[in-house]
Amino acid sequence: MTGIIVKAISGFYYVSFSDQVYCCKARGSFRNRETSPLVGDRVDFTAIEEDEGVIEAILPRKNALSRPPIANLDKLFIVSSFDHPAPNPYLIDKLSAIAFYHGMQPVIVFNKSDRGDFRAFEEIYSLSGLPTYTVSAKSGEGMQGIREELNNSVSAFTGNSGVGKSSILNALFGDLQLKTGAISEKLGRGRHTTRHTELFRVGENAFVADTPGFSALDAHSRDYEFKTGLIRFFPDLDAFSDGCRFSSCTHVCEKGCAVTQAVKEGRAAESRHTSYCQLLEEMKDVTAWNADKK
Ligand code: GDP
Repeated sequence: MTGIIVKAISGFYYVSFSDQVYCCKARGSFRNRETSPLVGDRVDFTAIEEDEGVIEAILPRKNALSRPPIANLDKLFIVSSFDHPAPNPYLIDKLSAIAFYHGMQPVIVFNKSDRGDFRAFEEIYSLSGLPTYTVSAKSGEGMQGIREELNNSVSAFTGNSGVGKSSILNALFGDLQLKTGAISEKLGRGRHTTRHTELFRVGENAFVADTPGFSALDAHSRDYEFKTGLIRFFPDLDAFSDGCRFSSCTHVCEKGCAVTQAVKEGRAAESRHTSYCQLLEEMKDVTAWNADKK
């Protein structure tokens, strides 16, 4: 059977398959290999009891993060709100670039629409073509869009504490903790006593991560591959780069740059380009020799 690891604790892996979760050990041969199973891994496993099993193999990964430890994320929901603090396009753009770098689709969410309007931000992101939702976890406005976006995907939410990440998930799915109560009981401890990354099943083929520590994504500003490919992680700007006069164009301020030209003509968002330049500047001393690895 092929399932997905939803939780990993002390050498036990909780594998979701159909409507059930199997508590699995990894086959002994794993221990001699470099790869150990991660939450989010799709695995082949054999059931040995009604709710126990053995993991036989890890299927190839689409991506893997070390902090938080999670594999195969399809989407990263980047949540902002009016407070805690106000939306910061630079941070949104940096996180979305990191998401693209890992092959994840960034999804931009502005929460607390009951408190005012996000028109200025909506304008930027509708031009960028990134999926963008303005919602209120409190009034329910726009929440159906988030539900649909979560379908058939493994997703994680990131954003400052207080922007409403848990409120959004609770508004959509009720109290997610209840659904994992049985698993926690088996281990004899409550979910709140441990802070492990965990995936919650929120639909037929939909999982969402409860991910403490997503701010660690920040580390990527010291990654050389991220720096040299940066324009690709701004696909809305990259769309114009074929038209640049010089192939070595960095798209900051060169003559004949089709990207800056598109910004000038309002075909690309100025604030996205500002973030791109700021990120490049932030990474100016990162070289192939002193960079961190992916
Ligand atoms: P998290 O830290 O990102 O998970 O944020 P929470 O979900 O804990 O929400 C932080 C605070 O914002 C709580 O007091 C929520 O009641 C409030 N909040 C969340 N969503 C909304 C919303 O759409 N509108 C308003 N007015 N308040 C909200």
